[in-house]
Amino acid sequence: MTGWRISGGRFSARLKAAPRAAAIGIAVAVVVVAALVSALVAPGGGGDGTAAAASGKNLGQTGSATPHSPSAAPTVTPTSATPAVPPVPASIQHATESGGKAVNITIDDGPDPIWTPKVLDVLKKHHVHATFCMIGPQAQANPALVRRVVAEGHRLCDHTVHHDEAMDHKPFAYQQKEILDAYAMIEQASGGAPVRYYRAPGGAFTPASRELAAQHGMRPLGWNVDTKDFSRPGVGAIVGTVKAEIHNGPTILFHDGGGNRSQTVEALDQTLTWLAQQHYATSFPKVD
Ligand SMILES: [Zn+2]
Repeated sequence: MTGWRISGGRFSARLKAAPRAAAIGIAVAVVVVAALVSALVAPGGGGDGTAAAASGKNLGQTGSATPHSPSAAPTVTPTSATPAVPPVPASIQHATESGGKAVNITIDDGPDPIWTPKVLDVLKKHHVHATFCMIGPQAQANPALVRRVVAEGHRLCDHTVHHDEAMDHKPFAYQQKEILDAYAMIEQASGGAPVRYYRAPGGAFTPASRELAAQHGMRPLGWNVDTKDFSRPGVGAIVGTVKAEIHNGPTILFHDGGGNRSQTVEALDQTLTWLAQQHYATSFPKVD
């Protein structure tokens, strides 16, 4: 939405004064060149050291963060269009965009026609924005839900086509298809909203799949607190896990798909109340 506003403004400026438009063009070019130079100069991409230090649970953090490192990934075959988004670091992110005392609420395995609306209602009640890691075919089957997620200010994350938690042991071509097909499904269902993250099912990342996601502008996304809501341990147990493990780091994992999520809905409500009482803000995972 912001993008539309910016491009609209640039367009009207060009209509009003051509010389000014030229000046803007030059300014934009200067900024682009400066960004390229700083990207080349920066060792290994900013922010990765911090992310790596933030959690002992990182998977594959030792890989190079350089987006185009030729040794890190097999060549991406042109099965998809050229990414329209700039590459992001390929290391697994856990940190918040805001920094400070904040958490990232992440919701996986949807969208689900029954449970996602209830989760969205809880988030709205608490004025909290979350990151939804969606399974491609479910996004495709529920486009109105995907658009509601985006319209209410939440962010999208690619959670593959088949949720294969053993995908890290399968050929790269398979992983590539799992990731890029879901990316296309989610993006299309959303009406073209950005898909900013990639979370491997069960954390089954590989260096090559992280690199692939990063080249498509999707930051590999980890988690610090696994509420295990998926196994329906009871509302109290889910909330208790957050309270007990929030010291692990800021990214909390819930689920809105995969079965009856009534415990999750109630536990999310209680968790958000508790987090606010503890003066936690909510943020999004840092993209770059
Ligand atoms: Zn999942």
